Amino acid sequence: MKNYEFWFCTGSQDLYGDECLAHVAAHSKEIVEKLNESGKLPFKLVWKPTLITNELIRKTFNEANNDENCAGVITWMHTFSPAKSWILGLQEYRKPLCHFHTQYNEEIPYETIDMDFMNENQTAHGGREYGHIVTRMGIERKVIAGHWKDEAVVEKLASWMYMAVGVIESSHVRVARFADNMRNVAVTEGDKVEAQIKFGWEIDAWPVNVLVEYVDSIPDSETEALTEEYYRTYKIVEEGRDPKEFREHVKVQAQIELGIEKFCKENNYQAVVTHFGDLGGLKQLPGLAIQRLMEKGYGFGAEGDWKTAALVRVMKLMTEGKKDAKGTTFFEDYTYNFVKGKEGILQAHMLEICPSIADGEIAIREKPLSMGDREDPARLVFTAKEGYGIACSLVDLGDRFRLIINEVNVKHTEKEMPELPVATAFWTPEPDLAVGAEAWIYAGGAHHTAFSYDITAEEMCDWAANMGIEAVVINKDTNIRTLRNEMKWNEMYYRFCR
Ligand code: MN
Repeated sequence: MKNYEFWFCTGSQDLYGDECLAHVAAHSKEIVEKLNESGKLPFKLVWKPTLITNELIRKTFNEANNDENCAGVITWMHTFSPAKSWILGLQEYRKPLCHFHTQYNEEIPYETIDMDFMNENQTAHGGREYGHIVTRMGIERKVIAGHWKDEAVVEKLASWMYMAVGVIESSHVRVARFADNMRNVAVTEGDKVEAQIKFGWEIDAWPVNVLVEYVDSIPDSETEALTEEYYRTYKIVEEGRDPKEFREHVKVQAQIELGIEKFCKENNYQAVVTHFGDLGGLKQLPGLAIQRLMEKGYGFGAEGDWKTAALVRVMKLMTEGKKDAKGTTFFEDYTYNFVKGKEGILQAHMLEICPSIADGEIAIREKPLSMGDREDPARLVFTAKEGYGIACSLVDLGDRFRLIINEVNVKHTEKEMPELPVATAFWTPEPDLAVGAEAWIYAGGAHHTAFSYDITAEEMCDWAANMGIEAVVINKDTNIRTLRNEMKWNEMYYRFCR
């Protein structure tokens, strides 16, 4: 990922003289300095000279477009800035936009306030003038209101920055498909051309045997070294299997991990899809190999699910460098617990769950897959951390994409599951299992999801808005009747208003 920065642009006008403009510049410089020093923002703010003319505004926005390190512009109207001045610049601007509705002073200086002070510190009305034109032009932006020293406000800025990086990075995601979608499956399908138009994703098919050539080209010394690393890092659970044969099977995954990584690096891919039914010359379904690659930041989708693969990649980038991050992974809804008071969904996949979400020990086990025709694959087995997260599903409704976001509460299962040789999570969707599942199904959500503890539903909604697609949130406020109406109205909007 690039060393991203965000530009801080302050709006004003020359009506109140040079002294006022000097104060405006000094205030915005101080805000940028203090916010950078606070350590609360994940990316650097870059101060830009006060914007007071149409020409400068247009020039600055175009420079922001062309600056590879600039991931977005934060605008602040210190004084009144007539908004027609912003039209051309905004029209040409293409990156995430934030309207920071703050002001230099926190409190009204009751004793000393006079008209000069009011003219100089008029965010309350300058911000409304500017906000009006952005709304009238239909430009997507984040409005954050509050004092710039308030920690909650700074947190909102930080959260928006992570989201903005997801927007910028989305158009650099390239997915290698080592198989088409699983036969007859509808929900993992989609319009790849539209995905490139909306998200910037490049989604390419490759014969799986090209990958096999990469895997076979890995020298045994490298495969041996990685196998050793596996044996040092994870708990080996042989369960009565022959230790030598067990290690040979693990080694197959090590070679696949190195082969896929080499392929991705040489051909510039950041996400992959596989299919248990289309493995060519691969000896095993990539399991442990995919789990390790996801941990390194690659996106993944099973059974040809390129939408989820790209989404996992984007969500991993949106959490990169987050302090105390708890993990992001591909998941699949499997089995319910309908016992009253203990309701939840067991999440897993055949093999491919990212160990970034693991709570405690990670084991390597080998078991037959009940599908496909290859040798028993090695996989990392663990349970997920407790805590809140979001499960996201991107579906193609034929005339548009819809992103469904469900807030979920991950818990430890009541009892261990010793016979289940896969990584799992158990979660209760908000607002509860029944409404959560009903809402998800009404929304057309898939069984595959991209899950993260480290991204909020608000961030994903803002990301979807920046991509120009529909987002549906299922959370503690969800009411089925209201949600179904919302989706009907959305249908009108996306069919007839865009
Ligand atoms: Mn699946």
